[in-house]
Amino acid sequence: MVQKLQAQQGTSPIHVIGAGIAGSWQALLLAKAGHAVMLHERSDAAMAQGTSRWAGGMLAPYCEREGSEPLITRLGVRSLDLWRRHHPSTPFNGSLVIAHPRDRADYERFARLTSHHRRLDADGVMRVEPSLDGRFREALFFPDEGHVEPRRVLPALHAGIRAAGGTVKFNSEARRGDLDGTVIDCRGIAARDVCPDLRGVKGEEITIETDEIELSRPVRLLHPRWPLYIIPRENHRFMIGATSIESEDSGVTVRSALELLSAAYTVHPAFGEARIIEIGSGLRPALPDNLPRIVIDGRTITVNGLYRHGFLLAPALAELTLNFITSGTIDNEVMQCA
Ligand SMILES: Cc1cc2nc3c(=O)[nH]c(=O)nc-3n(C[C@H](O)[C@H](O)[C@H](O)COP(=O)(O)OP(=O)(O)OC[C@H]3O[C@@H](n4cnc5c(N)ncnc54)[C@H](O)[C@@H]3O)c2cc1C
Repeated sequence: MVQKLQAQQGTSPIHVIGAGIAGSWQALLLAKAGHAVMLHERSDAAMAQGTSRWAGGMLAPYCEREGSEPLITRLGVRSLDLWRRHHPSTPFNGSLVIAHPRDRADYERFARLTSHHRRLDADGVMRVEPSLDGRFREALFFPDEGHVEPRRVLPALHAGIRAAGGTVKFNSEARRGDLDGTVIDCRGIAARDVCPDLRGVKGEEITIETDEIELSRPVRLLHPRWPLYIIPRENHRFMIGATSIESEDSGVTVRSALELLSAAYTVHPAFGEARIIEIGSGLRPALPDNLPRIVIDGRTITVNGLYRHGFLLAPALAELTLNFITSGTIDNEVMQCA
């Protein structure tokens, strides 16, 4: 018989460990559903010790279909609804995919492997992103995709948890064995003590600033060696990302910086005059199959392996956990009972 965890209202709260994107969504949906929730985060509110602060924040289930399993699209599409419902200010301006003429084969392959896109000609590109006028003869436009700015959205989610009656505790390093009641472990790469097959996949990124270009949505450049995306941030900033390297070194190499900046320059030469604001990297927490997993072990639930899709998947994973806690429902593709 499927195990069911009852709400702990009035007794011990549900403890969520880790206030990255996974833990924040878990705590938000539980608090909104009326559960007493305490979210523990070892960092201060700047969240310097997590991966989430480095993310692009793209909510792109259709583009991601090019290189990931159908499960990512299924959960991602569900997450778009949850972002809309619980964080209505999320921009859904779509995504634009471009390629240089010599990479047309890659472009056609991407179009074949993905869905929910419209083909734009040069005029269409100009209408959607006027700053790219004359630079690309065609593009794929994915109108239903969104993006968030991690360093703004995480505090907003934490505020939402508090508004729903939950507690967010920073500078609170928690150990699952020390907590009473239901515990949801969302420690990302720090959870290797319980997920020995977890690995970090390094993603390097560079944030630049220029007021010579405006973009309204993430732009992905398909490139055989240097695929990249450029994501508009507030105040004329752009995040250029991201490498994907099987390494847990936290530095950014000269080669990666050169490649990211060179590829951005080929999208628009004005990026060559931009100021560099930040260079950094984060470790994507990944399981061997690069898919997310929710493991239920008595009253402890581990949510991990969000890999390169944390912002895309966190809402749907939180909904699955909530459904399990309230009604014992199991999603066989994502959940395992230990
Ligand atoms: C460069 C880059 C770009 C990316 N772009 C995207 C993107 O565009 N879209 C997308 O969907 N995903 C993207 N990702 C992936 C995404 O960032 C990750 O999947 C996601 O951040 C993982 O979130 P998490 O909450 O599991 O882990 P984390 O963000 O690492 O959160 C875990 C938290 O747990 C805390 N913690 C650990 N141990 C304890 C403890 N004992 N007590 C209390 N707190 C603890 C840590 O301090 C940390 O804050 C990107 C990743 C990188 C690196």
